[in-house]
Amino acid sequence: MLTTNPFEAPENGDKLHEECGVFGISGAADAARLVALGLHALQHRGQEAAGITSFDGAEFHTHRAMGHVAGNFDREDIMVPLRGTVACGHVRYSTTGETALRNVQPLYADLASGGFAIAHNGNISNAMRLRRDLVRRGSIFQSTSDTETIIHLVATSNYRTVVDKFIDALKRVEGAYSLIVMTPEGMIACRDPLGIRPLVMGRIEQSDGSQAVIFASETVALDVVGATFVRSIDPGELVMVKGSEITSHRPFAPVSARPCIFEFVYFSRPDSISEDRSVYTVRKAIGAQLAIESPVDADLVIPVPDSGTPAALGYAQESGIPFELGIIRSHYVGRTFIQPGDKVRHLGVKLKHNANRALIAGKKIVLIDDSIVRGTTSLKIVEMMREAGAAEVHMRIASPPTRHSCFYGVDTPERAKLLAATKNLEEMAAYIKADSLAFVSIDGLYKALGEPQRNAIRPSHCDACFTGDYPTTLTDQDDVSSVDQFALLAERVS
Ligand code: SF4
Repeated sequence: MLTTNPFEAPENGDKLHEECGVFGISGAADAARLVALGLHALQHRGQEAAGITSFDGAEFHTHRAMGHVAGNFDREDIMVPLRGTVACGHVRYSTTGETALRNVQPLYADLASGGFAIAHNGNISNAMRLRRDLVRRGSIFQSTSDTETIIHLVATSNYRTVVDKFIDALKRVEGAYSLIVMTPEGMIACRDPLGIRPLVMGRIEQSDGSQAVIFASETVALDVVGATFVRSIDPGELVMVKGSEITSHRPFAPVSARPCIFEFVYFSRPDSISEDRSVYTVRKAIGAQLAIESPVDADLVIPVPDSGTPAALGYAQESGIPFELGIIRSHYVGRTFIQPGDKVRHLGVKLKHNANRALIAGKKIVLIDDSIVRGTTSLKIVEMMREAGAAEVHMRIASPPTRHSCFYGVDTPERAKLLAATKNLEEMAAYIKADSLAFVSIDGLYKALGEPQRNAIRPSHCDACFTGDYPTTLTDQDDVSSVDQFALLAERVS
């Protein structure tokens, strides 16, 4: 789910990270309360806004709000009206575009076939062109979200059933989507043919012995509500739940899947299982690979918390260099990039991280982080280590250089703002003021996933932000006029 112009990147400080999270449940008493718990476990995937829609068999009920799940869905006056045994929810990442409530999901529309609620993780990469065509034909958009395009495609489809209309709509969109849809007929979960964004299915037993079905972005959300993991939704699969009946549809021509490799590097919580692999174990393996590829003569391995911690453990265990917590992170400071202006943002970095001086003074250290995007945070962290008396500061990164923007629902800056897109390794090291800098190789990243190397002809994952090898056509990116048009449309509906 991306709002506003996806080619105008938000000023989010250094990290790209965050996309969206979805959670849906069918057949549970108090469904909305379980959705709130599930969304809470997915909060790391998007912290700007959250929403829940429930269906009580007759009516849909929705509450959407800016901010975190906790604080918005912990009040009885909000939860009690979210009646029903079917509900879905969404957490949304931050953008600088408009933060209007109308873009917060689930989006809802009354169609000729009945109510239609949709929660989306991903990005429709031809949304602007589709939107332009739909507006020409009379569609009136209520938001500036790419996700709304799907609603209008369903509304204008000539097929008879809502499932067929939905499939018809999906056949016209490009890009990444893991979707949870609610209609009076039932709940639908589906994943784009490449399976770029994750989606898993679970079940939870009810007090009457029946089984409620759950769909979620990550397995950690199943754990939190006490559900059992059943399986991942396959790329290109559409699963429909109508009461106790579950049907699987595969309406797309099969293609080789390309799930997002960055889920392993950063997005997913380390306690999630993705593609039958422990995310934590893969992150440690990336760190170990980094130690093999780029050793350092250092006294301490120090993670940049929290995202660099599993890779730093892997690096330390492989290299034999002691692992220590040389940077302490405050858990009570808001994210640095919500504060506007460079000066305040830099202050924010210092509030968030503090050097463990007694440990660092006089030591040669190797810092481990998951990625470098703009380089702003890395520079501040290296300076902080030097101010704390580190003798040498070496930076090791548990992903290859991020040289390309993501068009599949991840909050990346435009290419020109990516440090690795404009500088070589030496220039990057100089920019962040490190004594040395190294990234894990792309083959090394695949080795950590258990493959001998990246298959250049048929890679097993999307790795476009590292390689530029985008697995789909990028219609809107090549269509400058539709970018302009989208801006105009966005203005018109604001
Ligand atoms: Fe993931 Fe990068 Fe591909 Fe985006 S471009 S889906 S972040 S691997």
